[in-house]
Amino acid sequence: MKIEALIIHHSAGLWGDREYLDSLHEQMPRIRGVQMGASGTRRLHCGYHKIVLNGLPTYRDWREGRYQERLDGHIQQGRPDNKSGAHARGWNARSLGVVLIGHLDLGPPTARQWASLVHACARLCQRHGLPASAIRGHREVAASRCPGAHLDLSRLRGEVGARLTAG
Ligand SMILES: [Zn+2]
Repeated sequence: MKIEALIIHHSAGLWGDREYLDSLHEQMPRIRGVQMGASGTRRLHCGYHKIVLNGLPTYRDWREGRYQERLDGHIQQGRPDNKSGAHARGWNARSLGVVLIGHLDLGPPTARQWASLVHACARLCQRHGLPASAIRGHREVAASRCPGAHLDLSRLRGEVGARLTAG
């Protein structure tokens, strides 16, 4: 798979992690009334490749105010990077999907999420030979509000670009 873009998303929820996103992904075919595959389908991870946690991995953590600092900014691997994602129609076979846990229409990502996002995007750009301009918000490739009004994509491209220039 030739990667041409990194596409940034938010989860549009206040808490979550890979396990939670996987559970949503597994439910989707049922909701749509599509038969689940015998075995392979369930093993598919959520449609994103990287999941940037916000320190509130579960509903219970959120409800009880149990912020887990060590998980704030931690990045989980979703689908393997060499497997096509399921996150942006028309782009899945040529992009990597990065999702920040959080509702970024309501507020910005955490400082640690931002730092991890910049770091991860810079590494992925280097690995795949991409310029910072290859970073796109979901809303820039589809009719969507994702990844939310508080995710500053220009600033992201600027900070990643500065890293790439610095080598
Ligand atoms: Zn999205």
